[in-house]
Amino acid sequence: METTTMTSEALFAEAQTMMPGGVSSPVRAFKAVGGIPRFIERGDGPYLYDVEGRRYVDYVMSFGPLILGHAHPVVNEAIAQQAQRGTSYGAPSPLEVELARRIRRFVPSMERLRFVNSGTEATMSAIRAARAFTGRNRIIKFDGHYHGHADLLLAKAGSGVATLGLPDSPGVPKAVTADTLVIPFNNLGALERTLAEHSQDIAAVIMEPVTGNMGLVRPAADYLEGVRALTQAHDTLLIFDEVMTGFRVDLGGAQAAYDVIPDMTTLGKVIGGGLPVGAYGGRADIMAMMAPEGPVYQAGTLSGNPLAMAAGCALLDQLADTDAFDRAAEAARQVVAAIEETAAEVGVAVQTERAGTMFGFYLNDREVTDWETAQSSDRSGFATLHRHLLAEGVYLPPSPFEACFISALHNEEVVALTRAAFLKGFSAVRAERAG
Ligand code: PLP
Repeated sequence: METTTMTSEALFAEAQTMMPGGVSSPVRAFKAVGGIPRFIERGDGPYLYDVEGRRYVDYVMSFGPLILGHAHPVVNEAIAQQAQRGTSYGAPSPLEVELARRIRRFVPSMERLRFVNSGTEATMSAIRAARAFTGRNRIIKFDGHYHGHADLLLAKAGSGVATLGLPDSPGVPKAVTADTLVIPFNNLGALERTLAEHSQDIAAVIMEPVTGNMGLVRPAADYLEGVRALTQAHDTLLIFDEVMTGFRVDLGGAQAAYDVIPDMTTLGKVIGGGLPVGAYGGRADIMAMMAPEGPVYQAGTLSGNPLAMAAGCALLDQLADTDAFDRAAEAARQVVAAIEETAAEVGVAVQTERAGTMFGFYLNDREVTDWETAQSSDRSGFATLHRHLLAEGVYLPPSPFEACFISALHNEEVVALTRAAFLKGFSAVRAERAG
């Protein structure tokens, strides 16, 4: 494809005539921060370049996958070589075995696993397996945890103790979410009460062990251990949705970082090296439920896609053989320090959080531990900050409730640029608050 001569504004205007909101996924439309989304022409290392040729330090990294940076030569080479051999076979390929072997090395609790095409498919399929295995229907999820857009998981709670899930979206029948109970994160009492009340009914508890979809919220000390003990006591399966945290919080995911082992795990993002992929897996006895070994149906035309498998293998080899993860984690530490220091310098209250190579921050003077406290953050201040950072060449997720991602190529120069941009951004927030 030739490069375009159209501006982001013109592309957005035309895109809106053809695609709802002009985008392929809602948050990209910049609704939460205002302005025109930048149409991206290319990515290179830590940078994105828009169609106007402006360069941005990228803290989205495709919402997680690109831990080695954009257009990494080794990953690109693997994709190019595989493309010569075909892009899809509709038959098993050695690449699936190769990637499964690599994943199991890092995440041994995935005794057996299956590849799908997205994180949404992974969580949906894991829950189907859990329901079939336990013979129970209900599931518990947490307020503010996102597990993709499958109907049964598009439910949130009111505040307080568990409520029956109400669908978040028109088009999701109440009956579909009626078996989804939603409770607050970081609150063992709520889980204990809900499990006790519905003791024989709960097939699984699904959670983001480190939550990256309401900004970044880490589990309180001993919380995950508590969740594990309670689920075990009630014969309820524990599913860690590590689509975001896998290979990001730690090479072995949050389960390795916190040493809490779930019954099932879902992955996506990093394991596809920037190509569409997902995987679900866990205990061998649960996975034996899946067809053709067992009776539970789940399939996919492009599942185990050779391009995605090749990209994933190349990326995981880089993580295994180099210090890329540590470099990315150190860069995240430095950026978080820069955010804290510049905010303090200007006098804007922030709450920051980091977990391995992910980080987040809230414009808030309260500690953020769950969805409710996250919601009390200053959204309009975030929009102002986002706008100013963009003007300074720093691209943050276009929502105050998305985690930020970094790559191994975010070097000191990039961090210095980021620091200068935050200083200006926070100054603008302060000026706006002062009226
Ligand atoms: N689970 C988690 C924790 C996620 O963060 C996401 C996406 O951001 C998903 C599932 C859904 O993945 P996908 O967008 O690939 O369907």
